[in-house]
Amino acid sequence: MNKTINVTQPFLPPLEEFNEYLNQIWESKWLTNNGPFHQELEKKLCDYLGVKYISLFSNGTLALVTALQALRITGEVITTPFSFVATTHAIWWNNIKPVFVDIEPDTFNLDPDKIEAAITPKTTAILPVHVYGNPCNVKRIKDIADAYGLKVIYDACHTFGVSVNKVPVLNFGDLSVMSFHATKVYNTFEGGAIVCHDEATKKRIDNLKNFGFSGEITVVAPGINAKMNEVQAAMGLLQLKYIDKAIENRKAITECYREGLKGINGISYLEDMPDVEHCYSYFPILIDKEKFGKTRDEVYEGLKTSDIFTRRYFYPLISQFPTYRGLDSAQPGKMPVAEKITEVVLCLPIYNDLDLATVEKICSLIKNN
Ligand SMILES: *Cc1c(COP(=O)(O)O)cnc(C)c1O
Repeated sequence: MNKTINVTQPFLPPLEEFNEYLNQIWESKWLTNNGPFHQELEKKLCDYLGVKYISLFSNGTLALVTALQALRITGEVITTPFSFVATTHAIWWNNIKPVFVDIEPDTFNLDPDKIEAAITPKTTAILPVHVYGNPCNVKRIKDIADAYGLKVIYDACHTFGVSVNKVPVLNFGDLSVMSFHATKVYNTFEGGAIVCHDEATKKRIDNLKNFGFSGEITVVAPGINAKMNEVQAAMGLLQLKYIDKAIENRKAITECYREGLKGINGISYLEDMPDVEHCYSYFPILIDKEKFGKTRDEVYEGLKTSDIFTRRYFYPLISQFPTYRGLDSAQPGKMPVAEKITEVVLCLPIYNDLDLATVEKICSLIKNN
């Protein structure tokens, strides 16, 4: 009887409109390699996002791997354990040692107060994540990076159109990396991008994502194949027409959750940050078992029996996976905030066409558990 509600559902624009793009691709027979839709999307995204240069990618993970290559990052990179596992994988794929640092209790982003203690002579960069689309303390991170001569690459895979005091958050750091995976606010089936601030860097990134080719017979770097194709770019162009409405809907869903969960003992959630334009990519709640009476996992399992599929983003911590838990910085007790949050956080369903009646139902299921 119940229809299944997942934590997210891809945002699909009208199919008839997509068909028009497909017709054009069939006609031109230009399927990939910087095609007309790819070129148009780079321009339109620069305008929409308020950035100078963007390079499109086949997905966010290859964009992260390439971002580290583009700046020739080596040695050790300081990062957060509270993210999707691809953040650290990208470091590992570059033969760099990830160094985990704890997060802030109020934003769940990398804690600037704890970065300096993790810097060694081998440190070359900081790779923070704007978790759930909430901007990191970009000013503090810049000050630290400048003082120690480090690069900053933001994993901005949860953000789309987020700004701080009207400045797009993508303009902070040396590079920002985006994901347009099906589950994100804005999607191109799979897809991603690197945002940079000068033409030479844009050129290097474009070479790297195309095997290192800088011309027909010139290869300038050991690049990879991470190109976005025309079908993906077409999806991106079409989605851009609907993105403002999609974010508006997500905002209404967020407000509905906040209203419905207000005052429940042991349930807390994040409010909008001052002077920030949000994209409402996730709706995480924290469940305090002592006050609420149930653990996060009990709430997660309970909602499942009503066909509500929430996700424990981010659990376990990246530093707790077997691949990384041997690292010094990953040892239990070293990141008390992240270790606590990962046990109590639960992301509730949020997507473009989730109706508010369902949101209210989810709130009352939690309230009357
Ligand atoms: C989605 C995501 C990625 C990976 O992006 P893909 O496009 O799926 O490869 C990396 N980091 C974070 C924080 C993400 O949410």
